[in-house]
Amino acid sequence: MNVLVTGGAGFIGSHLVERLLGKGHRVVALDNFNDYYDPAIKRRNLDEARQGSLKGDLEVVEGDLRDRDVLFQLLSEEPFELVHHLAAMAGVRASIERPALYLDVNIQGTMNLLEAAVANGAPPVVFASSSSVYGGSPHVPFSEDDPVNRPISPYAASKKSAELICHTFHHLYGLDITCLRFFTVYGPRQRPEMAIHHFARRMSEGRAVPMFGDGSTARDYTYVDDVVDGTMAAAEHCGGYKIYNLGNSSPVALKELIERLGSALGIEPIIEQQPLPPGDVEQTWADISRAGAELGYKPKVGLEEGLRRFVDWFRARNT
Ligand code: NAD
Repeated sequence: MNVLVTGGAGFIGSHLVERLLGKGHRVVALDNFNDYYDPAIKRRNLDEARQGSLKGDLEVVEGDLRDRDVLFQLLSEEPFELVHHLAAMAGVRASIERPALYLDVNIQGTMNLLEAAVANGAPPVVFASSSSVYGGSPHVPFSEDDPVNRPISPYAASKKSAELICHTFHHLYGLDITCLRFFTVYGPRQRPEMAIHHFARRMSEGRAVPMFGDGSTARDYTYVDDVVDGTMAAAEHCGGYKIYNLGNSSPVALKELIERLGSALGIEPIIEQQPLPPGDVEQTWADISRAGAELGYKPKVGLEEGLRRFVDWFRARNT
């Protein structure tokens, strides 16, 4: 199968590329290798994805979602049977600094891609949305049927808006689109600014770990292989317009996470308490019953095992 993966050089995208290659597919990874974090890391992600699989065929295209010509040319050059759309400006806090960029890439960029898809055979699209769309909702676990009209960061607003434009394209052009709301994904290749990776680096350098708030905020940490399992299953079942949570359904408080990461690293963490940043939500917790029933999604890697695998990778990369 011919598959386009936007954001294929990123953390989750590179794992998905590796899985698709392992199944023998031809994969085109589109990425603009921006410097939100070191682009050399993204190139290494793709090298690892290539090495992890000896089967499929990978082509890397350096291009930007905001460039309609690039997208139209790419999709007209060869027929894609499936599009995994993961390219985005990710990260809640940075979106508060640069809201226009986030809206441009995540909304306009998504619309450009959907237009190019409609004009070129209308392949099914699987879109990486986010748990952040649930905002500060106190109703847990978060269910796909909950109202999500109160995003509290430009990033969250951009993902919710992209879900809406996906629905519009489904309605107008019959495009099959599945939106997946990922919940705090972690594992090897995690983005360097995300909590687990950032904390691990600071702990291993003997520096204090910033704990935002009193440590009671909680996240539904989800291991990257489980997210890739769910994403592959979503592609197989893609039809109509659907939304699924892909989480672990087992939230962990920040203070506990720091302690458990410290144990996995064999380091006693030094904690530095800081105020909760604006835009951060108190908790995330996925109701995964719909993904379970319709996609057979069942997360397999618990936090202990996931942190162990992350730490193995982290040590290997830093020695
Ligand atoms: P990432 O930053 O590692 O990957 C995103 C990739 O998209 C990067 O390689 C980046 O260079 C590329 N990209 C950004 N702007 C682009 C543009 N204009 N044109 C082409 N490529 C561009 O992030 P990730 O953590 O792997 O996240 C992947 C997707 O999943 C994103 O859409 C993100 O919003 C979503 N998501 C991630 C998490 C998580 O916990 N990591 C949670 C919820 C949703």
